[in-house]
Amino acid sequence: MRALPAPWILLLIASCTGTERTRDAKADPSRESERGLAAHIVDLSLSEGRAYELLRELVTQAPHRLSGSDGAARAVTWAQATMQRLGLANVRLHRCMVPRWERGAPEQVRVLKPAPAHALACLALGGSVGTPAAGVEGEIVVVRTSSQLEALGTAVRGKIVLFNRPMPRALRNTFAAYGASVPQRVSGASRAAKHGAIAALVRSMTTRIDDVPHTGGMRYAPDVPKIPALAVSTMAAEELAKMAKAGPTWVRVRASCRMLADVESSNVIGEIVGSEKPDEVVVIGGHLDCWDVGQGAHDDGSGSIECLEAARLLIAAGLRPKRTIRVVFFMNEENGLRGALAYAKDHANHKHVAAIESDRGGFEPKGFTSSARGDAFARYKAIVDDLRPFGMGVLIPGGGGADIGPLGLQGVPLFGLLPAWNRYFDYHHSKRDTIDAVHPRELALGAAAIAYLALRLANE
Ligand SMILES: [Zn+2]
Repeated sequence: MRALPAPWILLLIASCTGTERTRDAKADPSRESERGLAAHIVDLSLSEGRAYELLRELVTQAPHRLSGSDGAARAVTWAQATMQRLGLANVRLHRCMVPRWERGAPEQVRVLKPAPAHALACLALGGSVGTPAAGVEGEIVVVRTSSQLEALGTAVRGKIVLFNRPMPRALRNTFAAYGASVPQRVSGASRAAKHGAIAALVRSMTTRIDDVPHTGGMRYAPDVPKIPALAVSTMAAEELAKMAKAGPTWVRVRASCRMLADVESSNVIGEIVGSEKPDEVVVIGGHLDCWDVGQGAHDDGSGSIECLEAARLLIAAGLRPKRTIRVVFFMNEENGLRGALAYAKDHANHKHVAAIESDRGGFEPKGFTSSARGDAFARYKAIVDDLRPFGMGVLIPGGGGADIGPLGLQGVPLFGLLPAWNRYFDYHHSKRDTIDAVHPRELALGAAAIAYLALRLANE
């Protein structure tokens, strides 16, 4: 940031009294204005921010926003109207076709043997086929790895495979732990079906041991029969594994979920038009869709709202960027990524100078990840370092997120907001992901961090 508007300087003088902040700025006088700018945005977000209020509006009006659903359509309508109300320019819908999957009646996994018969906490995985009305019954076979499954081979024929690999708790980065275990959820059903299994159960993706099932996307391989795939809670997975170790264990699985034909939906886009280079764009975004349980408050209501609030903060502060800052609410991240793919394809002729995504929950931000390397990384690190006095100054190598991934393939530098990661998978894709699990101050800090980085990238 080179030239700052006069009202901002006055505000800075009035607000810059924190000793930490003053000491930090004094350490390097050449960066005093940048750090003052960061302080101003953080102050504004914490004192007059509207992120939590906006998140509440979204999750109240459209708690279930799975692609193609009525909830997703309501979310699109709300987002478009809200961007207009908050003063963004060029607010528009960018159409895309999305898959439509419906859960149907509550699914059931019931232990039949050993007695006593009882139900287990479960949720069908997104994309799964249903069962016949009477359900399917079979003996449980437990595996932890795909090589165990391959070794069993046709021994799983006619049976129900439980994929029971926990997220490795020793990994400090819970996203890495998720990455280590999620392939069993995504492709386990087809791997089991290849050997004749009749259904797949998958241990929920969480480090907690509790009775809350977590859904998520799965995909069928071509040329393999489609079998039902359901998540069970970590407690249910452990119970089944224990029973199966002790002796033959039979369960019945019932689900009425189904995949329908694709329907039209939209990404929602709004901008702060750049004052000097309006055709050059910094994208900030999250995904508007979410699963059909909970409210998608962390995933990814928080990320979307942080980006919207970032734009609102810049408008409220009169901080007009030199390049355009474009807020994109992507549709269908959870079970198709169609919005992100359509956005990148249809805007390939736009000059994107950077893209920032927030899709790791609305927890207290620590900084950002960046796809940049070498000198560019060092340059960005210096920018993000201005957020250090607020505990948000970390920049580590990494991807930006799924929705801006396609832009990365076009050579656009990517950034991802990096919040504290210990609690995210307590809530992710489950009924626990509600606004009560989001803290207003943490959300406000995320919005401020994105506003600051977007502004600096737009003014570089
Ligand atoms: Zn997400």
